Amino acid sequence: MRTYHNYIAGSWTPSVSGRTFENRNPANHDEVIGLFQESTTDDVDAAIDAAATAYATWRLVPAPKRAELLLAAAARLVEQKETFARDMTREMGKVLEETRGDVQEAIDMTQFMAGEGRRQYGQTVPSELRDKFAMSVRQPLGVCAMITPWNFPMAIPSWKIAPALVCGNTVVFKPATLTPLSAVNFVKVLEEVGVPPGVVNLVTGGPDIGTRMTTHDDVKVVSFTGSTAVGRLVNQNAASGFKKVHLEMGGKNVIIIMDDAQLELAVEGCLWGGFGTTGQRCTAASRVVVHEKVHDAFLKEFAARTAALRVGDGLDAATQVGPSVSEAQLQTVMKYVEIGKSEGARLVTGGHRLDTGAHARGWFHEPTIFADVSPTMRIAREEIFGPVVSVMRCSSLDEAIATGNDVAYGLSASIYTRDINKAFQAMRDMYTGIFYVNAPTIGAEVHLPFGGTKATGNGHREAGTAALDVFSEWKSIYVDFSGRLQRAQIDT
Ligand code: NAD
Repeated sequence: MRTYHNYIAGSWTPSVSGRTFENRNPANHDEVIGLFQESTTDDVDAAIDAAATAYATWRLVPAPKRAELLLAAAARLVEQKETFARDMTREMGKVLEETRGDVQEAIDMTQFMAGEGRRQYGQTVPSELRDKFAMSVRQPLGVCAMITPWNFPMAIPSWKIAPALVCGNTVVFKPATLTPLSAVNFVKVLEEVGVPPGVVNLVTGGPDIGTRMTTHDDVKVVSFTGSTAVGRLVNQNAASGFKKVHLEMGGKNVIIIMDDAQLELAVEGCLWGGFGTTGQRCTAASRVVVHEKVHDAFLKEFAARTAALRVGDGLDAATQVGPSVSEAQLQTVMKYVEIGKSEGARLVTGGHRLDTGAHARGWFHEPTIFADVSPTMRIAREEIFGPVVSVMRCSSLDEAIATGNDVAYGLSASIYTRDINKAFQAMRDMYTGIFYVNAPTIGAEVHLPFGGTKATGNGHREAGTAALDVFSEWKSIYVDFSGRLQRAQIDT
């Protein structure tokens, strides 16, 4: 059994606790992938000290030089893509094609942020006074605490670490306890390409160390992706120290299908949006609102295609839907299936745990569809984070948009229609951070902002150049070369 260590100040070190936790394969929970450090607040303090020390020199490394390390890291990720994808499927279950996509997203983001090493543009503006120069520059903030979930174990850390580094910050990174191996793989790459000791530190463990990271005086930025409940705690904990807090949280995303939609395309979109990553995406299409004229035709096809999805081990090339990530996540799915039934929704397909034959050793659940769902039901309002889709009827676009917006979250939404006027109305009126036309609610690319409104986020965005706004702050600089006192707003 391999034991993996924390990475602090450039050394792979065990936790002072002397304790470890197991990482198990959700498709076969007899398989223990490795033992990881159950870290304490002392380990976190050591990691933060290392990051604070390294910041003194890292912030002065020219940004294009910092970017060269990112470019080298991206190249190494390319070389090891297949190995890292297989490790990821083993530790969190999603099918190999998708874990390859996860690593690819880390490659894309690392390359994109390397490019920002030669940009990070500021403004140069005319001064209102003579012989005075006015400009703004981005400056780093210091130590950034990165706390990440398990569903995109390499992509999400890269979305945070790459922009933080190119801006000149240093990092303490705590991955979810369900996916520490992908975190180790990513940090090892950064070590191998020569990121200096202390610039990136990895500490594995649970909520206690997360709390320490969000309250420690030397942490200046907290970037968190995870559930809304934990995000609220993170926000509260970090508030008294005036940390900059970036939150990416839950979703309850909707696909709207109008009566003029290309139905076959819409069905494909709902299958991918609803059951991709076993429904365990923040952008998963867990709600579908269908125009009553095409509702029955859509549902018949969607149900038939869903029932035919092959559920199994993500390493098997024939598998289309992997397991839930853990027993607890599977129990949540099963709980919501019962809630849906008790609320009076109609179970169209699925609804059961799979635990015999090839599924006996894993946390599998049938892809599940509820129809006759009303927008007030809990299954239409709460994030389930599993392979469960709620289908609702509508009689107009206005009604669909109202239903779509009537949830606590605001991450992603989409519409299937051939009417450009309807597409533009929905694009304008859905209050989400991401919107798609004739595509499902998933499919974000790294060079545009990513994030959501309402209970999904707190106004910041990840990815694209928007991420630079999280990991840098502006300094406005005035250079007076007149040789005399000039008073702004007073002298002319
Ligand atoms: P989670 O909130 O349970 O955990 C997220 C991280 O927070 C983990 O690393 C966890 O150990 C840590 N944590 C737990 N308690 C903490 C505390 N008190 N202080 C600091 N850190 C703490 O989420 P999860 O189950 O890992 O992930 C699923 C959730 O993530 C879903 O709600 C999903 O929508 C969300 N998510 C959002 C996005 C997005 O970009 N909006 C992307 C992916 C996942």
